[in-house]
Amino acid sequence: MSRPLTPLDRRVHGEPLDDDAILALAEAPAGALVRAAAAVRDRAFGRTVTYSPKVFLPVTNLCRNRCSYCSFRRSPGDAGEWTMAPSEVRSWLSRAREQGCGEALLCLGDKPESAFGSYREQLAGFGHASTVDYLVAIAEEALALGLLPHTNAGVLTRDDMARLRPLNVSMGLMLESASERLCEPGMPHHRAPDKRPARRLAMIDEAGALGVAFTTGILVGIGETRRERAEALLAIRALSRRHGHVHEVIVQPFRDRPGIAMHPAPDPTDDDVVHAVALARLALDDEVTVQAPPNLHAHDEGALLGAGINDFGGISPVSPDYINPAHAWPHLSGLARRCDALGFTLAPRTALHARWAQPAFVDARLDAPLRAVARRLALAEPLFARASSEATA
Ligand code: SF4
Repeated sequence: MSRPLTPLDRRVHGEPLDDDAILALAEAPAGALVRAAAAVRDRAFGRTVTYSPKVFLPVTNLCRNRCSYCSFRRSPGDAGEWTMAPSEVRSWLSRAREQGCGEALLCLGDKPESAFGSYREQLAGFGHASTVDYLVAIAEEALALGLLPHTNAGVLTRDDMARLRPLNVSMGLMLESASERLCEPGMPHHRAPDKRPARRLAMIDEAGALGVAFTTGILVGIGETRRERAEALLAIRALSRRHGHVHEVIVQPFRDRPGIAMHPAPDPTDDDVVHAVALARLALDDEVTVQAPPNLHAHDEGALLGAGINDFGGISPVSPDYINPAHAWPHLSGLARRCDALGFTLAPRTALHARWAQPAFVDARLDAPLRAVARRLALAEPLFARASSEATA
């Protein structure tokens, strides 16, 4: 008589698991999860692992929040404070285009103009009344140069997102955690009002209602429990199922560095990271990409691939990882060789995963830029199936 199927067997065969089953898996050892997670990945994505050649534009590192693991943020007057001038942005975009990038990642601190008068004056000097005005101008410039914008500007209003949508193939906001406990005094999000889980979940929900293809994810190792990680993944899954807009979920490990409020703090163990990656693959629906940045895992791609990722995210030939500057991106040729040795093919992609190249998620004005980048990266052209009335609107 054959043994009854376990939840992992059922998941491998394509059956989604309910919340209770995922919460139970959160307490299981990593070894029990990784084989199933890799099998789910193989069935859903095969043995191709993708990355997006990008330029990382840290438009400003001024931020009104103070997450205790962050080395990126500054206040006006701090050493290392910056806001990119339009000329700098232009120069980086041009270099990125010359180096074959397809994505312009616009990444910045949260709501700086609500906190800092000097920043408002700087924006006015650039001819802009708000950060979103500036982001619109940068995105237009990126598109003109043949790069696809992806904006991650912290918590945005519905109106902000509606303005940015026609110029961005996707947008992002890391959920990081759904735990209110991490917002209590002494915890990493206590001094970060924009990290309240309800606020971030509300934005992800609104993005879905607007038809914005969305990137989100979790942070691993900032004091959360494995159960809390599972709860964050389930919250993402619920919104993804409501709107179908979440195209990728990042599993990003915390990395300690001098100068952060938490320092010294232990990095998450490799076992923790692998567990979180596998849990994400098992919790999320099959079509959603699970991504882990290779530069934050000591260039041990085998562990990440073994736990079920199908994507490395953005890798830049021109700009550093400003969020984790001590961790350089891997060279693509070496990464491709290592993937090959592990039985995987490394392949470029656009900033929007192909399955989301549909009218529901892409403004008609972005069809031609998306097609052009896909051609330049030698990809199959995205299929929009846009009705002719929409295409000419
Ligand atoms: S992690 Fe983001 S929101 Fe938090 S302080 Fe740093 S830049 Fe600001």
